[in-house]
Formats: sequence, C-alpha cells, structure tokens
Amino acid sequence: MKIFNTLTQQLEKLTPLDGRCVRMYTCGPTVYDYAHIGNFRAYVFEDLLRRTIRYFGFEVRQVMNLTDVDDKTIRGARQAGVALADYTRPFKDAFFEDLRTLNIERAEHYPAATDHIPEMIALIEKLVSTGRAYRSEDGSVYFRIAAFPDYGRLAHLDREGLKAGARVAQDEYEKEQAADFALWKAWGPDDGDVGWDSPWGRGRPGWHIECSAMSMKYLGETFDVHTGGVDNIFPHHEDERAQSEAATGRPFARYWMHCAHLVVEGRKMSKSLGNFYTLRDVLRQGWQGREVRYLLLSGHYRQALNFTWEALSAARGALARLDELSDRLRERAGGAAVGDLPAWSRPHRDAFDEALGNDLNVSEALAAMFNLARDAHREMDAGRMRPEEAGALMELLGLWDRALGVLARPEVAPDSEALALLERREAARRARNWAEADALRGLLAEKGWLIQDTPQGPKLKRPSGAGGA
Ligand code: AMP
Ligand code: ZN
Repeated sequence: MKIFNTLTQQLEKLTPLDGRCVRMYTCGPTVYDYAHIGNFRAYVFEDLLRRTIRYFGFEVRQVMNLTDVDDKTIRGARQAGVALADYTRPFKDAFFEDLRTLNIERAEHYPAATDHIPEMIALIEKLVSTGRAYRSEDGSVYFRIAAFPDYGRLAHLDREGLKAGARVAQDEYEKEQAADFALWKAWGPDDGDVGWDSPWGRGRPGWHIECSAMSMKYLGETFDVHTGGVDNIFPHHEDERAQSEAATGRPFARYWMHCAHLVVEGRKMSKSLGNFYTLRDVLRQGWQGREVRYLLLSGHYRQALNFTWEALSAARGALARLDELSDRLRERAGGAAVGDLPAWSRPHRDAFDEALGNDLNVSEALAAMFNLARDAHREMDAGRMRPEEAGALMELLGLWDRALGVLARPEVAPDSEALALLERREAARRARNWAEADALRGLLAEKGWLIQDTPQGPKLKRPSGAGGA
C-alpha cells in the first residue's frame, strides 16, 4: 500500500521497519472536555489507516496518548474546584464510549501523560546534558532549536525566519513565532496543586515532550507511522521530531500522515471558534454512530470535509442501500455453502483493493462497493445469481468491512417506549385478545422492532443483521 508522507511530500510504499508489524503513534485527545466530531475525523482516519494496514496483511501496534495535563486541563480543574485527575476522568471515560459508538478499533496502548512524568524528565535530562536544551532563569527548560539543524523540515519552515535564542512558552503558537520551545514549565500560581519535582525544580511538562517520551517508550526510538490532523504538523510534530531525534541521534517516525480538517462553512471545526458538535450532540438529534462514521470516513483524508446535516442524511441513505444489498444477498444465499465470486464481481474487488491501497482512496473504494451493489441487484433481478455466489459476495462485503467498519449494524437496545409496547402485547396475548396483540406487533414493526420468541420469553430485535463479519 502507498501513503502520502508529509515529511517528503511524496507517495511512498508503506513497509514496516521490521517487515511485519507497523508501529504507529496517533496523537490523542486532550481530556478537558468532550471530543468534537472534528477530532473524530482524525480518529476515524487513523482507524481506517489501522484497519487498512491489517487488510493488506501487516500487523499493527498502535499507541494513542491521552493528554491529561496541560494549560486547558489545569484551567478546567481549577474552575471546577476539583483535583486534576477527578476533572479529566469523566472525559476519558466519555472518549472511550465515543470510540465504541463510532466502531473505532482499540489501540494497543492508551498511555496517559500523568503516568509518564519520569520518562519525560529523563528525556529532558538527556537533552540538557548534551546542550540541546537549557534551563531558563525561572526554572523552565527550553529546547534550543539552533542545536537541531533539521528543525523545520516537517512543517517546511523557512529556516531564515527562525528566531533562534528567542523563546515561546505556550504549547500552541504560529509558525512566525518559531523559537526555542518549552520542554518543562516551572510551577506558577495558575498551576495550583498541579506539579512534579524535577532536577530544575517543581513544574510540569510541556505538551510536545509527552508524545516523544510515550511513543519511544512503547514503539522504540525509530518507529513507522506518526499521525494527526494537519494542525498538529506545527508546532506539535515539528517539536516532537526535533527533541526526539536530538536526544537519540536516530530518525524518529519514518512516515508522517496528516488528515485535513472537518470544516463548517469553510472554517475548521474547533472549540475556540464555537462551531463544533460533540458526538453526543449529534446522537441526541437522532443520528447513529454508524452514520457519523460513514460521513467522517467518506471523503479522502487529505481533503477538507464539509460537515452539513444534508451530508449526514446522505450517509444515512448510502447505508440504507448497503443494508438492502446485505439483506437481499443473505436471503438469496439462504444458508447455502459459499462458492466462488461471480466473474462480473472480480473487477469490483480489484478496484476496491487498488483504491484503498492508493493512499486510502476511500471515495473510490466506496464507489467500487456501490458498483458491486448495482450489478448484484441486476443479477438477482434477472434471476441469474446462484445461492453460493450470493454467499461469496456476502463474504466479500464482510472482508471489505474489516477495513471500513460501516456495514455491521450494531445491536441497539430497545427504548422504554418499545419495551412498554412489548409488555402491552404480552398482556393482550394473555387475555387472548389476538387482534390487539397483532396491532401492537404492527406498531413495533413500524418502529423498526421485530418480536422474537426465545426460551427466556419474547425479545425485541432489529431486522436481520448486516454482512459485516
Ligand atoms: P486536540 O484535542 O485539539 O489535540 O485534537 C485532537 C486531534 O483532533 C488532533 O489530531 C487534531 O489534529 C484533530 N483535530 C482537531 N480539530 C479537527 C478538525 N476540525 N478536523 C479534523 N481533525 C481535527
Ligand atoms: Zn502528540
């Protein structure tokens, strides 16, 4: 498979360093609030990448950090009047719940910054001892960008414009402010009771150092892929790369991949602009996680994706068409043994693989899937599809869905209204009022629920599941 490397600005073949397992680091959420669906565009892109790497036969070892100490988390905890860990815990829990809702596979490691302070201090000590970092008057420690000649290569900065010797203390800043940046921040009154002892006095880590320390701890000094949204390129990833390579003298990540933003009316969806929706906001309006996932997934990751309600509605329509195909194939297969794929479907299979392997061209992969749907309906309409072929096509859809993760229909728990209707139907049956019982069954069906009799009594089910394996 080929991917676009931000560092080289080229399409490159992805080959893991050890030939087998792709080691990948994905910058995770700052847990000071609920993540918004713009953030989830990045996490869904990374999930597609992870799944695609496995689709093409490699293993994956993925690390996603949780930033649970920084300016924003400290400010939130102080405003709420609670300890930092108590403030961030519910947002961590909510994040994992949202990942499940969006059918995002779990990474192998989710290290939290506050659990890795000694590793960060050790890394900073290494940089200080070789003169690549220095302590300032107030007890903060800065990385000396002049000591790393490659500084600016990832973000393609103009080296002439760098302000070597000048300093920037905050975690986020503009390219024009590129200067020596903080690795360790001396304690100040705004930090309240948050702080750790270090060789430079009490303080806390800057944001960038956490990702260097945690990626190298779990993936080694040199690993394969490092990802994030484009806003991470500068300063976050530039600084991560500088401090890691300056400390080890070895290449840090080999491939850097960045997704473009989810935008609303032309502007990046972000907390600071106030133009954001959390996943919860969207679910509350009656949308499903699966529909949100489809929308976030459906555009190529290097192109900005516009968020609109119409686009979400189109995602719902697309999924309904895929569900219809799965249902019809299942019915046609009828439990027969799985045979060979029909000849007409093979070009679609190849087109799908070709698209996905070409820098995750998901729009073309989806087009291959819809072309297959069109042709499958045509064959079934004409009575030309054998049950074994329908089974083979279902298997192909299941395989594709390992990469896409959109076909499987999640089990939805019945709401209280549906349960009440079921209860009334049981009462009607006990009273031998069959007409009433049938009417209630009809009402439930209208709401999308089927009644299934089980040894434990009647249960509510959604109509047959999808082809996703
Ligand atoms: P943050 O919590 O701000 O560090 O962001 C977490 C991740 O979401 C990072 O990888 C960001 O690049 C990404 N991100 C933030 N806003 C957007 C957006 N509107 N579209 C896509 N990715 C975003
Ligand atoms: Zn990071």
